[in-house]
This record gives sequence, C-alpha cells and structure tokens, in this order.
Amino acid sequence: QRPAAPPLRLRGIALHFGGLRAIDGLDLVLRPGEVHGLIGPNGSGKTTTLNVISGYYQPQQGSLALGEAPLAMGRPESRAGQGIARTFQTPRIIGEATVLQNVMIGGTVAGHATFAEAMLWLPRQAADEARLEADARLALQAVGLEALAGFRADRLQHSELRFVEIARALMLRPAYLLLDEPAAGLSAEEIRRLGQLIREISAHGTGVLLVEHHADLIFDICGHVTVLNLGRVLAEGRPAEVRAHKEVISAYLGA
Ligand code: ADP
Repeated sequence: QRPAAPPLRLRGIALHFGGLRAIDGLDLVLRPGEVHGLIGPNGSGKTTTLNVISGYYQPQQGSLALGEAPLAMGRPESRAGQGIARTFQTPRIIGEATVLQNVMIGGTVAGHATFAEAMLWLPRQAADEARLEADARLALQAVGLEALAGFRADRLQHSELRFVEIARALMLRPAYLLLDEPAAGLSAEEIRRLGQLIREISAHGTGVLLVEHHADLIFDICGHVTVLNLGRVLAEGRPAEVRAHKEVISAYLGA
C-alpha cells in the first residue's frame, strides 16, 4: 500500500438535486489507516457523500482536499489517479470476462486515466502486463478468491462478486477505499470475513470509508463513526461515543 497519505478533508459540502438538499454543509475527515463508518437512515446522503468523494457528483458548494492539495471536481478518473478507489452498491462486473480479468481492469491505466494520460502510459502498461496479472492474483488472494481466478465472472455468486470488486479496487493500492454497503446480501460468516479484510486493508495504511446498514459491522471495526441525517452530521466520534447518543440510535433505526 502507499505509505501515509495525508488526511482527506471535505469542508462545507452542499449538493442538491433540484430543490432537494441531499447533502447540506458537510464536514468530514478521512485519515490514513482508519476505518470511518458513515451511517444514517435511508436518504440521509451517505451514497451521495461517497459519490462526491469519488468524483461522480460535483457539489454546488464546499471543497475537498488531500492534505493541502484541492481535489479537482467532477473527474472520477483523476480521483483514481490520486489513489481514491471505490466499490458500488451493485457490483459492476464484466460477466463474460474471467474473475482475474475483472480484477486486472482495476490496475490498467486506461480504466482510470483520461485518454491523454492513457496514451502516454500505454507502452509501460503493455510491458507491465505480466506484473498486472501477478498483482491481480495477489489481490484475489487477499480477498480469499484465488481459486476462482479462471472462472467466468457471471458464474460467481453475488457475495463473491462483492469481494471481487474489493480486489479490483485494491489494484490501485488505494490511499483511500470507499465501500458502498459491502455487507449487503452477505451471510453472517461472509460479513465476519469482510470485517477481517477491511481491518487488514486499513492496517496497511489505507483509509476506509464504510457506508453500511449493518450496525454490528460498523461498531465492530470502525475507529470513527459519522451519523448523517437529512444530509447533515447528527453525531460523530468514536463508536462508543456515537452509540451513547440516544438520538443517533433512533435516527439510525428510523424511529
Ligand atoms: P442514502 O445513501 O443515505 O440512502 P442518498 O445519498 O442515496 O442517501 O440520497 C440522499 C437524498 O438524495 C435522497 O433523498 C435521494 O432520493 C436523493 N438523491 C440521491 N441521488 C439522486 C439523484 N441522482 N437525483 C435526484 N435525487 C437523488
């Protein structure tokens, strides 16, 4: 993994869809090596926040910075170039390709850079094909799926595809990894493995943003938790501090 990235800071982020304020003045700090949980009821702005950090949405107000360096708005590819990787709520996988090929895509420059950058880096990329494959096998090993490398991806179960997506994101050796409900549809045993994997990833220095409904997983593995409600921070702090807030629990449960 990359050594000690600077903190990733969101300041005063506001994003509205028409008249609806999905995020309303959000401050958030992600730190290297820390698992940061983002929780809140449906519609509270969690996925929108993740989309802002990964560059898929452009906020109307506020700023994002990696250390002192502002992040350019509206360019998911350049976010990947800065070491910010993500997974999706519904895994985005090429069914006709093998599991290994799907993971290798995460490490190809063309998959992430602008066209101009891809042209400049293409020769190196071709020469590195073998290395890319070796890296992909290591990433699959990290998520415990090396035995499935040669399978067509559409033969895998949904839960396995979630781990394939994480392997693909690891190919970037991300400074920050954004996970959008990775535990959805997983069995209790798979969630335990997922928690262990996220711990290992953060122990290597990657900062993780975990958007998740599964409260046990959040409180179990996060060093910091932010609770959103109506696009604003309702509470934040260490898991024990956040748990102590009565209003947090009721908002989280939607009561
Ligand atoms: P969460 O992830 O916490 O469930 P979201 O970030 O998905 O919440 O959504 C926050 C609010 O923004 C919701 O009211 C949702 O309906 C709205 N929203 C999200 N994405 C869009 C979009 N692309 N267009 C219009 N409204 C959206």
